[in-house]
Amino acid sequence: MLSDEDRTQLKGANNDKELKKTFKSIASYNPDQFFPTEELKNLGYTRKQCECCGVYFWTTISERKVCGDPVCSGGFQVTINNPAKVKLSYIGVWKKIVEILEPRGYVPIKRYPCVARWNPTSEFTIASISAFQPYVITGEVEPPAKKLIIPQFCLRFNDIENVGLTGSHNTGFVMVGQHVFVSPEEWNQGELFLDIHAFIIEGVGLPKEEITIHEDSWAGGGSFGCSLEFFSRGVELFNQVYTMFEQTPDGPRELSLKVLDMGLGQERV
Ligand SMILES: [Zn+2]
Repeated sequence: MLSDEDRTQLKGANNDKELKKTFKSIASYNPDQFFPTEELKNLGYTRKQCECCGVYFWTTISERKVCGDPVCSGGFQVTINNPAKVKLSYIGVWKKIVEILEPRGYVPIKRYPCVARWNPTSEFTIASISAFQPYVITGEVEPPAKKLIIPQFCLRFNDIENVGLTGSHNTGFVMVGQHVFVSPEEWNQGELFLDIHAFIIEGVGLPKEEITIHEDSWAGGGSFGCSLEFFSRGVELFNQVYTMFEQTPDGPRELSLKVLDMGLGQERV
């Protein structure tokens, strides 16, 4: 999947930040290799480059010139005529994701504790994927299911000084996770993208014109891959991360266990 030139470039990346930046340019230079472009085109999206920040993004609106980032698209506009056609209660968000994704092969599982006693790298469960770090990701422990969804309560203390002052900062929230742990042969990126796209369109009732999908990349702990960020009216709904490679002293190599990491804020939907 990676060319010799890509490998040489990636081998020179010294940390996750450089890895993310290098891989982002590699992926966007060759989108058909790294993104579900076939599926996006079939759904009516076209690829564009933002005139404001240069990011590559997908939209169904032919006149659209800027990406969905609030800086480029004129800030948050969620409060004006909520575009979601389905009214969901707080619990209804989780029930709806089960309704859409369970028939597509995902097993709904119970949340993990907030204190991550199984994880030597983090004291608290800060994201839905934390439930499976590090040993499921490394392949040492079997996941509860190869394809699963989880309503994970998460704790984050990095904004604690703002809690109670701004009205928009919290220390706890529920992240609904869509996770997949499979071999390269079982990996089907297009299907994983269509699954979450179906939730947003059919489950939440958001029309395609309300969505912009950005090409991005992710790197953490030496693993990396590309990602698609979904935006609507200046709000990032979620980021679907396709973790496919890892950095080694000899350069990048394909992971034997590919991991899908998608987490969406239950409150945000
Ligand atoms: Zn932009």
